[in-house]
Formats: sequence, C-alpha cells, structure tokens
Amino acid sequence: MTSSPSSALSLRNLHKHFDAGRPGLLRRDDRLVHAVDGVDLDLGRGEILALVGESGCGKSTLALTLLGLERPTSGEMYFEGTDVARLRGAALKDMHKRIQMVFQDPYESLNPMMTIEEIVEEPLIVHRSFPTSDQRRARVIQALEDAGLKPADSFLDRLPHQLSGGQRQRVVIAASLVLDPTILLADEPVSMLDVSIRAEILNLLADLRARQGISILFITHDFGTVAHFADRIAVMYLGRIVEIGRTEEVLRAPRHPYTKALLSVVPVPNPRLRQKRTILQGETPNPIDLPTGCRFHPRCPIAEDRCRLTDPPAVTLSPSHSAACLLIENDK
Ligand code: SF4
Repeated sequence: MTSSPSSALSLRNLHKHFDAGRPGLLRRDDRLVHAVDGVDLDLGRGEILALVGESGCGKSTLALTLLGLERPTSGEMYFEGTDVARLRGAALKDMHKRIQMVFQDPYESLNPMMTIEEIVEEPLIVHRSFPTSDQRRARVIQALEDAGLKPADSFLDRLPHQLSGGQRQRVVIAASLVLDPTILLADEPVSMLDVSIRAEILNLLADLRARQGISILFITHDFGTVAHFADRIAVMYLGRIVEIGRTEEVLRAPRHPYTKALLSVVPVPNPRLRQKRTILQGETPNPIDLPTGCRFHPRCPIAEDRCRLTDPPAVTLSPSHSAACLLIENDK
C-alpha cells in the first residue's frame, strides 16, 4: 500500500506500542501497551480532519508519533508522498519544521518568564531559520498578525499573564505558525478556553486553512466542536480508527455503535431533535489487555456472541465513509 498523492500526510498500518511497565527484580513485564494499533489515515492538503475519541484512545500518542517525538513501532508514514523512513538530515529536519503542534493548554504551555516575542521567536532560533534578529522580529510580527494579534508590535514585550485566555491561545498558534508549517496538529486546542472564545479560535484555524492552505488534524474528545468546522471526521477507539467519513455523513448517519454513543450525548439546543442518550458502560479497556474479537465488545450495547471472536474489518459504505463493525452488513 502507498500514500495518496493528494495527501499531506498518509499513515499505513501504523503502530506505536510501549513496554507495559518497569522491569521487576524477579520478573520482567513483557506485555505491551497498544497505544496506536494499526492506523490507516490520509490527511488531505488543505483539509481539516477531526480525530475524535475518549481520552486514552491513542489520539495524543498518534500526534506525538507524527511530530517525530515518538518512533513508530511499525507501519508506514508518508509526508507529502515521501516515505518518512527514508528521510535523513536536512530533509528530515525540514519535515519536522513543516509539521507543528498547537498545544492544549495556553496557561501551561507558555513560559511565564518569557515575553511574547521571545516565545514566538524561540522555534526560529532552535531551527536556525533566520540569521539576524531583525529578520526574526519581522517573522514573529507576521506570525502574530496571522494569529490575529494586531497590532502585533503592541504584544511583543508583554508577558503571558498580561493576556486573556484567547490571546494566549493565539500566541500558542503564532509560535506554531512562525516556522511556516504545512500541517498543524491541534490537540484539544479549545478545551481549556471559555465557550465564548472557542468559536474565535476555531474560526482562526479555519481561516488559516483558507488563506494559507494549511492542513489541520484537529484532535478532540468533543463532537460538538467539530460539527461546523471539520471536512471529515475519524473516530478512534483503543488505538484504531473505527469510523471515518465526511462530516455530514458521520453526523447524519453514524454507523459504528461507538460513534452513535458519542453523538447521542452531544447537547442539542432544539429539544425536538434530541435523541435517546446512550451511556457507555465501564471504562475504556486497558490497552495492555485488549479484548478479543472486536475491541469495543465489552462496552457495545448491541454486541453479539460472534463479536467476542471476530475482529471486524472496515466496511466501505460510500467512497468516503467506512466503519468497522460486524453488524453493518446486516443493516445496509
Ligand atoms: Fe459492537 Fe459487535 Fe459491531 Fe463491535 S462488531 S461494534 S461489538 S456490534
């Protein structure tokens, strides 16, 4: 299997496993944590793809692997059509510049002792992107303006505590834009913000895609934030993508029971449109001891006996929509 030529990023059967625990004095724990366990995914150029799932499903480990902060255990990763395993030296460094992270917590991720200029300039210094301080300052000002902090000069000497929550998150975004990335990995970028400013940050990300053609992998546990924002939705459960499709397909006609359960608890303003809530029983199983068969079967409200034995393959529902559930063939 190869990458799609129109993709900014392609993953093929990607795995990231960790050792389960510290080796003991008498006995070593040889079990593995299956954090990412066979992910196939394409992020199109200029696309916003939402990756949705509960905490612990592997979303953040996947992002760290894409950033190069974790080495994949196996599988393939293509950046703009090139096999990342073949990249060396300057080409590998350039890829790491082109994929940037927008972190979740603007209160924790900004150093309180550094000015806004120092924070946004730091990636340029680390990557030796501009040789002179004047050039770096001009690039910092451009990044702040692209992130909606205008006039940018008025922010340069301020400290993070002198900014509002929304402005801090814009600084986080400016620090990720300053290296001129083609892909942003946004890990729950609005979950720590007041509801009133979430829409502002989502609009900013959508605007960056429209103006600069940046591809965005938007990682979230909350379906409510992606409905009017993402082009496609991928739903992740215990290290696997269990459903993927265009946003309207997944929201209008979800097919995997996990997707249906997550959607059933999204608040809906119109009481007539409310549906019966499906509260999933129990916690997400430990990724050390994966359930046999379908990994969702211990929590699935419609599981059958065969679900304990057979790992369901993805079923194609339309050219853009697929889901991995044994019962889909029955209700097509
Ligand atoms: Fe539920 Fe069975 Fe479908 Fe898995 S295969 S999601 S357990 S119905």
